[in-house]
Amino acid sequence: MQTADVVVIGAGINGAAIAYNLAKRGLKNVVLVEKHLLASGGTGRSAAFLRQHYSNEELVRMAKRSVEIFRNFDDMIGGDCGYVQCGWVFLVPEGVAEAFMGNVAMQQRLGVDTREISKEELKELEPRVNLADVDRICYEKTTGYANPHDSTYCYVQRFRELGGTLMHMTPVQGLMIENGAVKGVRTSRGDIATGVVINAAGPWAHIVGQWAGLDVPIQVTRETEIILETADVDGPPRLAFSDMAKAIYYRPDGGTRTLLGRGFPKPYEFVDPDHFKDQADIDFLDDMSRRFVERFPGFEKALFINSYVGLYDVTPDWYPILGKVEGLRGFHMCAGFSGHGFKLGPCIGELIAEEIIDGKAESVDISRFSLSRFSRGELFRAAYGGNRA
Ligand SMILES: Cc1cc2nc3c(=O)[nH]c(=O)nc-3n(C[C@H](O)[C@H](O)[C@H](O)COP(=O)(O)OP(=O)(O)OC[C@H]3O[C@@H](n4cnc5c(N)ncnc54)[C@H](O)[C@@H]3O)c2cc1C
Repeated sequence: MQTADVVVIGAGINGAAIAYNLAKRGLKNVVLVEKHLLASGGTGRSAAFLRQHYSNEELVRMAKRSVEIFRNFDDMIGGDCGYVQCGWVFLVPEGVAEAFMGNVAMQQRLGVDTREISKEELKELEPRVNLADVDRICYEKTTGYANPHDSTYCYVQRFRELGGTLMHMTPVQGLMIENGAVKGVRTSRGDIATGVVINAAGPWAHIVGQWAGLDVPIQVTRETEIILETADVDGPPRLAFSDMAKAIYYRPDGGTRTLLGRGFPKPYEFVDPDHFKDQADIDFLDDMSRRFVERFPGFEKALFINSYVGLYDVTPDWYPILGKVEGLRGFHMCAGFSGHGFKLGPCIGELIAEEIIDGKAESVDISRFSLSRFSRGELFRAAYGGNRA
């Protein structure tokens, strides 16, 4: 039977970064198993914003470390992750000023390059924007977005160069468990004996959890993104925007196009990750067009040229489930990123490798992210709710 020191289930950004970090830390026999292709889950559909604006310190630290890696990707990992430092702004409506100010102050204390800017200052950066319904604006000059496929690809290639094994197009079909400890995984290409399994299966992670007899509270939601051709309206927005006032987000998508998606709050559509409608709904497209043109009136003539549907793996508090699982030796969770887990991937890879090799994640404490927080009722609280986290 094939053996492994560690089996990582799922080659999205998180599984890929974990596998790479384990190999980099010296584990010789790590196997990354992916049921389809690299980044074929949430990662491949990600808008891939890299903001650091969170309301809990652990996530700020994770996002900050990840941004450092994305910005220096070629030196720190190797290859081009498609990082674009266009700057990120957060537009908030009236009613959340206290949470907003508290978050910005906490992030500054943790060393994040972030500050509040005035409407006039934003107009200097992007004159075409109508800010009538905006109360406060936060600006992170050194963030932007990356390419989720390229980032995942680089992690997996570097992992393989370090001696790791990728088994793609290979579904994991079950777990081998004895006396409260992981003994291996069953795949479509045979069993792999191992004492350590990482569940990085994204929108399928609750199914992997069921094989281990665990109740992993992840629900799957359907999320649509739209691409506009904006060459004929003087180019895409000059920055990446998270627009809480209109509950949308948008950013440049290369030189002439714009990526547009729907943010919190919104009605959520829960789906089966293996059976869902992968085409955008007409009502949704109409609504998005209205919201976006209210913000950028000059974009009225811009055409939607593509749209696609991806999945969020959502937990009850919109925070991921990380780390070892009580009562099941060798089983580690890394899922439930609730629509904001791309930007965390580089740091998550380091943290899960620390937990496995050193026994504890030291660079950021992940103990509050355990699966057992749900049964203990110790859920995270976020300043704005939903995946604004
Ligand atoms: C539309 C959209 C927009 C988003 N925008 C942002 C954003 O702007 N910024 C941000 O930070 N995050 C964003 N996210 C969220 C982010 O993309 C995800 O949180 C992150 O990519 C999740 O990565 P992952 O590796 O944990 O899981 P995934 O990318 O879902 O990967 C899980 C992998 O596991 C594999 N798998 C599942 N079951 C098995 C099995 N049994 N055997 C083998 N393999 C298996 C799947 O095929 C998949 O490749 C967005 C997500 C979506 C859908």
